[in-house]
Parts: sequence; structure tokens; C-alpha cells
Amino acid sequence: MKDIQMVDLKGQYQHIQEEIDNAVLDVVRSTAFINGPEVKGFQDDLEAYLGVKHVIPCANGTDALQIAMMALGLQPGDEIITPNFTFIATVEVIALLGYKPVIVDVDPKTFNMDPEAVRKAITPKTKAIVPVHLFGQCADMDAMAAIAAEHNLFVIEDTAQAISSEYRKADGAVQKAGTMSDFGCTSFFPSKNLGCFGDGGALYTNNDDLAEAARQIANHGMKVRYYHDFVGINSRLDSMQAAILRVKLRHLDAYCNARIAAADYYDAAFADLKGVTTPHRDPKTTHTFHQYTLVLDGIDRAGLQKHLSDQGIPAMIYYPVPLHLQKAFLNLGYREGDFPVTEDLCKKVISLPMHTELDENQLQHITHAVRQFIQP
Ligand SMILES: *Cc1c(COP(=O)(O)O)cnc(C)c1O
Repeated sequence: MKDIQMVDLKGQYQHIQEEIDNAVLDVVRSTAFINGPEVKGFQDDLEAYLGVKHVIPCANGTDALQIAMMALGLQPGDEIITPNFTFIATVEVIALLGYKPVIVDVDPKTFNMDPEAVRKAITPKTKAIVPVHLFGQCADMDAMAAIAAEHNLFVIEDTAQAISSEYRKADGAVQKAGTMSDFGCTSFFPSKNLGCFGDGGALYTNNDDLAEAARQIANHGMKVRYYHDFVGINSRLDSMQAAILRVKLRHLDAYCNARIAAADYYDAAFADLKGVTTPHRDPKTTHTFHQYTLVLDGIDRAGLQKHLSDQGIPAMIYYPVPLHLQKAFLNLGYREGDFPVTEDLCKKVISLPMHTELDENQLQHITHAVRQFIQP
């Protein structure tokens, strides 16, 4: 059996090695390393794939969030609501730009931002909400859109973990994650569902003015070369990464199907285990399983992790510490007990290996090992 990893980047590369190597070599030979034709090519391909008017490539997913917030023209002290149970990037960028992060709890089943909690957190200073489509499943975008319309708020979707997931809106329209709001922000970090071979990111929007603003911000506030209209940043996707992403985008649907098949296998194998909750699948959204995450009740999580590790199976805790208890955010004044759902999840979740290369032998080995530790 092949070694089991959380994410098998090598195995994935080997299947498309010739395509990738050729694409990379073409860029090397062209020496068009920055803003080469591959960047525009990838942008066009991704726009077509997502069904969105504008894709703005940038250097990473965190930058994408920063550029989006800058493009919306928010002012220092404006409040932005974002979920607690997620990676730090959303709340980090809000704080970095001088806005006020307002953290809210999540839904215990989907792990996504709880609309009721958002409603309660709104004040006259609230200007935007940033739902995160966690682990591959869209947040409740019908509810987010209703709240935003009611209170005149911007919406930025963090779709770093859910590129290609689809959401069925109340009116029946089906849209890709990140295309349902003012901006979608994504990451092409290597382990993401569409990963490049370094750092990369992008914003999406259907709004022409916002697209132009985002492009200019990402390019030193410059529209005409060496004429700077405001203070921007330097955030580019390089040509080599774009060339790699163009190849991998052609395989993205197959990659998602492989993840979903692995999740189906896990679900079936764990269905009868007491104290184990398998990932909830919200019928309004596809789940593209960036992570496959169990919630354990009354089960020794560290013991399970060690038992798996002893059999060559990695397992990770995403996320071990709620954002409001991170040292970096103690100044926000939150306390232990303020966010019971997130605090509980941080103690109970465990993520199993999830990637495009898991084969039946590996899945059998993993599920067997879990079932040795947890009885039905
Ligand atoms: C990975 C990730 C980011 C940041 O992406 P980078 O490319 O690493 O900057 C932001 N939000 C979420 C939810 C992520 O998982």
C-alpha cells in the first residue's frame, strides 16, 4: 500500500506530469514570468468555468480578501462580521486594515456562519459580512443575501476551501461558490482543491467597477503605467503558477468527484459508530470535501489520533483554537464561553486524510483503523 498522507500532491502530479512539465517549460522558454499570456489565459478559463464576469488573479488568498475589502472603500472602524470557526485569514485582514472584526458563532451541523448570530451582531456600524464556505460546503447564502439586503451590507465570500462547489438558491438558480456576492476570494495554496505549485489566489466579481478597482489596487494603485492614483499593493499570480493552474483546472471536476467518492466511502464505513457524526450535507450546496471532518462525542480524540498515527495514518485538528481565544485577538475583548458552538467543535473535530488519490486499499486501512478504536 502507498503511504497515506493528508494530501497526496506527488501522486496527483504524477498523473498529469507530462501536461504540467510542458506547461512549465513553455513559460521558462518564453521568459514571460510576470503577467505573461498564461495569466490572462487562466483568468479567461476560470471566468468561463465559474460563470462569473471577472476573475482577478493575485498572489494568495489572504491578499484576495485584503484587495476585496480595500476595493469596497470601507473606513477605519467599520464593523465586519465573520465566523469564528475558520482559518485566521478573514479576521486577520479585517484587523490589519483597521476595520473592526466582529466574530460570530457557527452552525453546529454545517460549521458555517450562523445567520441568526449574524443578525444579532449587526450594529449601525456594520458594513460587510464575510461568510466562509468551510471545508467545501457553501454557507447559507440565501440567508446572507437577505441579511445584506435588509441592512445594506457588502458580502465577501471566502471560497478558499470551496472552489467549484455549487449552491442552489431559493429561486432555483444554481451558482458557483464565490459568485453570489460583491466579491468571492479564493486561494490556490497547494493543498487547496485547486492548488498551484506555490502561492496563488484570485478574486471574482460580476461588478465591472469593483473589478477595475480590485485590479488597480493589486497593481500599486496604477492604471496607466507609473501613474499611481492611490496607495495600492503588489499582488500578482505569476505566469508559471497560472500555467499550472490552467492544466489543473481541466481536471478539477474529476478531482472533486474523487474527493466526494472518498467521503462516501468514509460515510458508509462510519454510519453505525456511536459518538461519531459524519459531515452533514446541506441539500442546498454541493460538498467538495476540502476536509473530511468528524465530530466525536465522548471519544478520546488524542487517543484516536495516536492510534491512527501508529498505523501510518495522519489525522489533523482543523481548528484547535477558536479565533476569539487566539492571542492575536485578545484585544477584541471576547472571553471563553462567548461562542459555545465553536468552542465545542474545536474540542471535538478530527479530519481524516482527504485528497484525489485515495485508493480502496488506503480507505479500507483507514476506516478499519478507526473502527478498531471506536466500537458501534
Ligand atoms: C487557505 C485559506 C485562506 C488563505 O489563503 P492563502 O492563499 O494561504 O493566503 C483564507 N481563508 C480560508 C478559509 C483558507 O482556508
